[in-house]
Amino acid sequence: MARYKSICQFVQFAGIILISQVFTACGQTNSSRVNKTEINPDAAIQKTDAEWKKQLSPDQYYVLRQKGTEEPYSGKLLLNKEKGVYKCAACGNELFTDEMKFDSHCGWPSFDREISGGKIKTLEDNSHGMQRLEIQCAKCGGHLGHLFDDGPTKTGMRYCVNSLSLDFVNEKELNKAATKSASLDTLTLGGGCFWCVEAVYEMLDGVEKVESGYSGGAGANPTYKEVCTGTTGHAEVVQITYDNTKTSLEEILKVFFTVHDPTTLNRQGNDAGTQYRSVVFYRNEKQRQATQNIIDLLNKEKVYPKPIVTQVVPFKAFYEAEDYHQDYYNLNKEEPYCQMVIQPKIEKFEKVFKDKIKKQ
Ligand SMILES: [Zn+2]
Repeated sequence: MARYKSICQFVQFAGIILISQVFTACGQTNSSRVNKTEINPDAAIQKTDAEWKKQLSPDQYYVLRQKGTEEPYSGKLLLNKEKGVYKCAACGNELFTDEMKFDSHCGWPSFDREISGGKIKTLEDNSHGMQRLEIQCAKCGGHLGHLFDDGPTKTGMRYCVNSLSLDFVNEKELNKAATKSASLDTLTLGGGCFWCVEAVYEMLDGVEKVESGYSGGAGANPTYKEVCTGTTGHAEVVQITYDNTKTSLEEILKVFFTVHDPTTLNRQGNDAGTQYRSVVFYRNEKQRQATQNIIDLLNKEKVYPKPIVTQVVPFKAFYEAEDYHQDYYNLNKEEPYCQMVIQPKIEKFEKVFKDKIKKQ
């Protein structure tokens, strides 16, 4: 508590204006923990206490989830003047920019406004005999600090925020992330059992992420069991996020039409049912056209002895499959299905696309 003592001494010395600022600021003692049930139950991100504890440092957990307050003048972002964005440290929600920050001399990072779009939620806080407005991240319910109407800029507002509730991303890092995301694209494909298709794309150079899931049916968030009945209309699919500077839409599609049989209606080998149908869910005209071009070419050249039956339909929604389906082949290589069904597809892929395989 030595820190508080020195601040009190400083405040006494500095006079009444600073005293009023400090006492109307976020300042609370360690006895100020508020019952966790008051954390916003409407937040989109809901995690258990154990999950938050695992994700956050003990200090962050104390502030964000127990509504604690860091000691004044202790936060690493208090004096930060770099250009960039301040995000919620618990969920990454972008809350403030450098242009909104000002020196309030209250001991905590202060902002005169928030990034618009309902990113911050205000709640009445009548604890400690004071009437204050608490501010929470609207996305995860994390406690940020308090909002006061004594700001010195034209907004008249002062968002008094704990450094521990914030992550700062500087301009250089933001530009790097923007360039990266501009070169990424996503395509959703169904080519029979998603374990097989996922295993192949994970090896392709330029593929950033492959997720197994369900698309094209009625109803949200189906389970594997429901999809397996064939009555929900969903297909087993993989959602591929790839880097256009390292691979291309055409290459993603070439791999697709090589490693599965696009001529068997609602079937891949012994796997039968509409959930195993061959389908491309396009997100834009470019994806639709590229898919149709390859299908036309394969039909024209009679690459397969029978006509292509692959559906080309607009993308609506993707529902991620249960955890145990993700990366199934790599985690279950000894399983007979992996050896008999997936392994031959991988070998075919390796043979045809040997120059395109990720270097480990
Ligand atoms: Zn948050």
